[in-house]
Amino acid sequence: MSKLKHIKNIEKLYKTIIILCGFLALLLIIINLREKTKPTPKVYTPPENLVSYTGKIYHIFFHSLIIYPELAFSGIDGGQSFKDYMVTRSEFKKILPKLYENNFILINSELLYSLDINGNMTRKGLMLPEGKKPMILSIDDVNYQTDRDHMGFARRLVLDNAGNVATEVITPNGQTVVTRDGDVVPIIDDFVALHPDFSFHGAKGIIAETGFDGVLGYRTNIRNYIGREKDIQDITKIVRKLKESGWQFASHSYSHDPIFKENTITLDQLKYDADKWDREVKPFVGTTTIFIGPFGQIFREEDQRKEYLLSKGFNVFYGVGMDLDLRYFPTYLEMNRADIDGIRLNQYSGMLKEYFDPKEVIDPARNN
Ligand SMILES: [Zn+2]
Repeated sequence: MSKLKHIKNIEKLYKTIIILCGFLALLLIIINLREKTKPTPKVYTPPENLVSYTGKIYHIFFHSLIIYPELAFSGIDGGQSFKDYMVTRSEFKKILPKLYENNFILINSELLYSLDINGNMTRKGLMLPEGKKPMILSIDDVNYQTDRDHMGFARRLVLDNAGNVATEVITPNGQTVVTRDGDVVPIIDDFVALHPDFSFHGAKGIIAETGFDGVLGYRTNIRNYIGREKDIQDITKIVRKLKESGWQFASHSYSHDPIFKENTITLDQLKYDADKWDREVKPFVGTTTIFIGPFGQIFREEDQRKEYLLSKGFNVFYGVGMDLDLRYFPTYLEMNRADIDGIRLNQYSGMLKEYFDPKEVIDPARNN
């Protein structure tokens, strides 16, 4: 090999090395840039040292809270149905710290399962902070029925001045006020803000929505009323905020008709109901795979009505039952939820011992 050729080869080698170095440097710059443009983490710091959890999964549910018992319990029958199926604001505010002290942690219900691309469902292993017990929370009938406006319940969900979801309440003397403790949602939001370890990755709960009296307290079921467009804009903002802050939505049927409870609903009636939910509720709350049967109703396996709901994309069915029975089927799951209400607090309080002591939370207003 001539000396000249040898020098040229060395030059070639140097050039290759320089190009490679340049390429590497560029790569490092890109990686560095990507690191810098990563979204900044939220205040919530994910818990470390997670351990496998194989125990019971808890799921509790509430209805809208009674804010003014003096109004709710003043009906002809002493507000007996409210007394039976609801808890008061004071009771709920006492229950939450007890659940927290008893090491419950709110989880997103999607942690219960994995789905493959064909929709086959399997139970997912749950990794939780050590000592914590997973709890799903749901709220049924978050529609704030028109006839309850002056009965001691919140009137609707709104955004407060800080842009957080709050409650609009009519006080006993007729004033309309925006509060942060007029129902489950803002109370949970504020409690989790104070105790972030009560929520696993920011999970809050599931809002079960019907449609026969509108959505979240807005009468969108009525076609043409003045202010409907503004209401729709408001609902859109509220739903966005709810989802951002860890809330999920479920269908609770459109009509909440007793034919669900009586199990006499026909397939055609169910289709009609589901279509109305799709038209009048889904545009606001979005798609959901969760169906919370009205009155805790669950259609059983191979029932054509169940097949229909499966064909609509529902794969999580929640009923009612203190046993918290959780069953996995090839493409869906069913689970019972513990009903925490007046009947439970008063008559079957022993069933609540895993959660809290009813004696410590019960509202004296129940006996007035
Ligand atoms: Zn309901």
